[in-house]
Amino acid sequence: MDTSLQYALDQDQKDVLHAFRDKFHIPKTSSGQDIIYLCGNSLGLMPKSTSNYVNQELEDWKNLGVEGHFHAKNSWMPYHEFLTDNMAHIVGAKPEEVVVMNSLTANLHFLMVSFYRPTPKRYKILFDYSPFPSDRYAIESQIRFHGFDPQVGMIELAPDAGSEIVSMTHIHNILEQQGDDIALILIGGVNYYTGQAYDIKTITSMGHAKGCVVGFDLAHATGNLLLRLHDDGPDFAAWCSYKYLNSGPGSLSGCFIHERHHQADLPRFAGWWGNDKKTRFLMRDQFVPIPTAEGWQLSNPPILSMAAIKASLDLFAEAGMDRLRKKSEQLTAYLEFLVSQNGSSALTIITPSDPNQRGCQLSLQMTNPDKRLHEYLTVHGIIADWREPDVIRVAPVPLYSSFEDVWRFNTILADGLNQI
Ligand SMILES: *Cc1c(COP(=O)(O)O)cnc(C)c1O
Repeated sequence: MDTSLQYALDQDQKDVLHAFRDKFHIPKTSSGQDIIYLCGNSLGLMPKSTSNYVNQELEDWKNLGVEGHFHAKNSWMPYHEFLTDNMAHIVGAKPEEVVVMNSLTANLHFLMVSFYRPTPKRYKILFDYSPFPSDRYAIESQIRFHGFDPQVGMIELAPDAGSEIVSMTHIHNILEQQGDDIALILIGGVNYYTGQAYDIKTITSMGHAKGCVVGFDLAHATGNLLLRLHDDGPDFAAWCSYKYLNSGPGSLSGCFIHERHHQADLPRFAGWWGNDKKTRFLMRDQFVPIPTAEGWQLSNPPILSMAAIKASLDLFAEAGMDRLRKKSEQLTAYLEFLVSQNGSSALTIITPSDPNQRGCQLSLQMTNPDKRLHEYLTVHGIIADWREPDVIRVAPVPLYSSFEDVWRFNTILADGLNQI
């Protein structure tokens, strides 16, 4: 690697996925330049194909009304099934283990109804260091709902002294000390703040060895890391589709429920869409769950949102997660190299430098927090995000970010550091 623009341009030329950038709408600055978009970890960009996918469903609704459930080009009745194979592939699951439904926080709650089954002796939840606030609120309210004290019941992971990174030794020690009190381990696949990726397989087996249920919030991992949920064996997982999966603001969430639980007699909050498809419309009194992850569905789903998901998943299938991950590792290593070359002590990269412990995001922590740096970036055509109190998160995503984007970002960053 070197710091010249030519190096970046050469890498883009060699990139087998470079053509995918053209399949996305890249927002423009007021002077018509492409924005350097490094915020795909928050809201992924819109594929150009999305309009056609959504319009197809609008047209069918316009022309067919309720008949669209059966006679739309893509019938609405089984529409969620059109997403399953691609989604299962992205998270490394069997198709029966995956369903797209609801939104992420709602799914965390519904999954906890089945998988957080506290007893007076074992009711604690072990959760991520500095988690996304919604996860904290969901966990706290679940503990309270079951009549336990969140002050005692919530165990938050902690980073090693002098770092922002949670070590496996720390997780191991907590499980050794308190494993028998922990009903549920629910942590991120990638921490949204530090960008640290956790070892799902090892955490799952350590948790299971202590008799804990193990679930993951994969909001920042899906479409970013190579996941193998079936083989790694967590009990459940959920993620949203609007970050790396580019499915539009507030779009639906994906769920994974390991097949070992499909026939188990778990409590759940039921709805008609989870009922056996053969008897669903007989409107019987007795609920007969579909014996797969689909049995957790509640409502008939929003087709317009699913159409946007389908557009994006079709692009993922074309690009392939293996190729995406490979490019992602290169892009992020390049970003890390350039930022380190700046030699500035004003920024520290708190994300692990081991590629196995991160996805595409790097979190840049300011030694002397000054939000003007983020404003400088924004004014100069970069969308990255600022997380209080002191972190700028930058995520070059392999589907549409280029090496040139990364080079230009770093040039502007270096100027900004000199000027503020
Ligand atoms: C983005 C994100 C959410 C957002 O939840 P919604 O229910 O989709 O609004 C929740 N948890 C994590 C870890 C996230 O990254």
